[in-house]
Amino acid sequence: MKPPVFEYVSPASLDDAIAALSAPDAGDVKVLAGGQSFVPLLSLRLAQPSLVVDINRIDELATITEEGGVLTIGSLVRQRQAEHSDVVKKACPLMAEAIPFIGHTAIRNRGTIGGSIAHADPAAELPTVAACLDAELVARGPGGERTIPAAEFFTGFFTTALAEDEILTAVRVRAAGPATGAAYEEVARRHGDFAMVGVGAQVRLDGDVVAEARIALSGVDIAPVRASKAEAALTGRTVDDSVLEEAAQAAVAALSPSSDLHGSAAYRKHVAGVLIRKTVATAAARARENR
Ligand SMILES: Cc1cc2nc3c(=O)[nH]c(=O)nc-3n(C[C@H](O)[C@H](O)[C@H](O)COP(=O)(O)OP(=O)(O)OC[C@H]3O[C@@H](n4cnc5c(N)ncnc54)[C@H](O)[C@@H]3O)c2cc1C
Repeated sequence: MKPPVFEYVSPASLDDAIAALSAPDAGDVKVLAGGQSFVPLLSLRLAQPSLVVDINRIDELATITEEGGVLTIGSLVRQRQAEHSDVVKKACPLMAEAIPFIGHTAIRNRGTIGGSIAHADPAAELPTVAACLDAELVARGPGGERTIPAAEFFTGFFTTALAEDEILTAVRVRAAGPATGAAYEEVARRHGDFAMVGVGAQVRLDGDVVAEARIALSGVDIAPVRASKAEAALTGRTVDDSVLEEAAQAAVAALSPSSDLHGSAAYRKHVAGVLIRKTVATAAARARENR
């Protein structure tokens, strides 16, 4: 199918983009970033905007910086750019681990960090990373800038706390310090497919003991899910097989995924347990190497 007719603007500044989004006569306006999800929606006429605001010329949204222990990734940074960034690999190893699971190279060349997070697919990797790390999502609209914690950002199936006239401008995460390790794993029918279940884990050690555990899952609910019971079961303990099993069981007991064409609820719960054990064990081993 062909996309519906729409007006198109391509502003070079964030202020102009926000002005276009919030114009009183704008109608149904949508932001275009990498287009890897939005253009198929247009072509299928699942999106029928009256105006498309293309943000690809706004260079200020395409930078990666680390300052004062905080990593800031502009929303327009391409997924492939973040995947290969030494700054991201060091400050946010979980993101660097997760990105190669997104589709294929051609998709990651165009797809943006902010586009994936704003799209909020419950099976997607980057929203799961944002939830796992308690990322701050920075939004700008006609009323100015606000920061939304990841726990409040993903409000449901493909829905977020962003207002229609707001642009997600950046993602901020606390940079990983010493004795920290991360791992991301998922199960999909083929490489590049959306995951049936994905798990991201980050562990910080104090000696041999877990000082902080962070675990988030994709594909098990309408939005990314934090495995807080598993995190609690790991904290203050030394990671061994029985602790891993206890943590996985605590997480799985709190999940209630749906069954669909791709897998039953029972299968998703089983996979979630396996992936939690695997990612936490790998993250803890990497944390030991980084001491
Ligand atoms: C074949 C294929 C396989 C894929 N596989 C995966 C996969 O395995 N995992 C995965 O996570 N993704 C996958 N994707 C999707 C891909 O990651 C997209 O890049 C991502 O979902 C959207 O990013 P984008 O920059 O392309 O955004 P767009 O497609 O341009 O926009 C997506 C949505 O977000 C909104 N939006 C974008 N940027 C902003 C912003 N800065 N502020 C406010 N709203 C914004 C748009 O209005 C639109 O509603 C796949 C895509 C394809 C085509």
